[in-house]
Amino acid sequence: MTARLIDGKAVAARVRGAVADDVALFRDESGRAPGLATVLVGDDPASQVYVGNKIRACEEVGIRSIHHGLGDGTPQDELLEVVAELNGDDLVDGILVQVPLPDQIDQDEVIAAIDPAKDVDGLTATNAGLLAQGRPGLVPCTPQGVMELLRVADVEVEGAEAVIVGRSILVGRPLSALLTNASATVTVCHSRTRELGEVCSRADILVAAVGSPRMVRGNWVKPGAAVIDVGINRTEDGLVGDVDYAPAAERASAITPVPGGVGPMTIAMLLRNTLFAARARNRDSAGHAV
Ligand code: NAP
Repeated sequence: MTARLIDGKAVAARVRGAVADDVALFRDESGRAPGLATVLVGDDPASQVYVGNKIRACEEVGIRSIHHGLGDGTPQDELLEVVAELNGDDLVDGILVQVPLPDQIDQDEVIAAIDPAKDVDGLTATNAGLLAQGRPGLVPCTPQGVMELLRVADVEVEGAEAVIVGRSILVGRPLSALLTNASATVTVCHSRTRELGEVCSRADILVAAVGSPRMVRGNWVKPGAAVIDVGINRTEDGLVGDVDYAPAAERASAITPVPGGVGPMTIAMLLRNTLFAARARNRDSAGHAV
């Protein structure tokens, strides 16, 4: 069997197009554009590229972006003041503090300071708790992108055996909640998991979110499984995922490539989350649905 390619670039372009249409409707009805604030501390080149991409993507769909670039030595208090200011700004619907943050900053405290209604990364304990309880809230972008790819690729989630390799707050844990809420039977693996290959080979849906080039081997893939590769690893061969793509594609029924799979979905879902937050805030302040 040779797997169907799940084209994340094409799916993300469709999501961005739909968000642009809905942003235009929101502007007509509310008289303003949704706003996303990005906060970058320091001058890490990779983070600068990520934030730049997010700002450009906002502009393309009509979301207003507000950027705060802070120096590498910015103290915790100053960053918390910026977050508090953005929390209080009515024209800001989403706040994104780019990670990693410099050593002097307590990342958990900064995330906890973000108004959960503006937490478009879905990282606050409030949004994580809502997701764990299967209630509406802001869902982290990358796992939301994975669910969208499964949906578009017509992968049956209900009743499926899903295995996620990786238990981070950003990807593995929220994805396990999303898959559980969608009635999959979920196993979450990590660095202490025994017989990882054997566990993976049970999966109808296998998701790799580890950060280790090609560590998920082709022969761990159950024939006919859907394989989603979240990993982004820079190697001498260029950008590769966490899955050993060629042998995995021989056994899977559907698979995401790296690059061009999950990666483009993350920004598309950030735009969708910003619109979601803007609508919810507008509803709350106006007392009617927008
Ligand atoms: P992370 O926070 O470093 O978490 C990695 C997870 O993998 C941890 O749970 C770790 O287990 C587990 N792990 C490490 N080595 C393992 C092994 N040998 N066997 C089994 N599990 C192992 O990483 P992350 O933020 O979730 O990111 C994972 C990957 O996804 C990275 O390549 C990252 O660049 C990529 N990513 C992509 C996007 C995107 O937009 N496509 C977004 C976010 C992340 P322990 O918990 O036991 O340490």
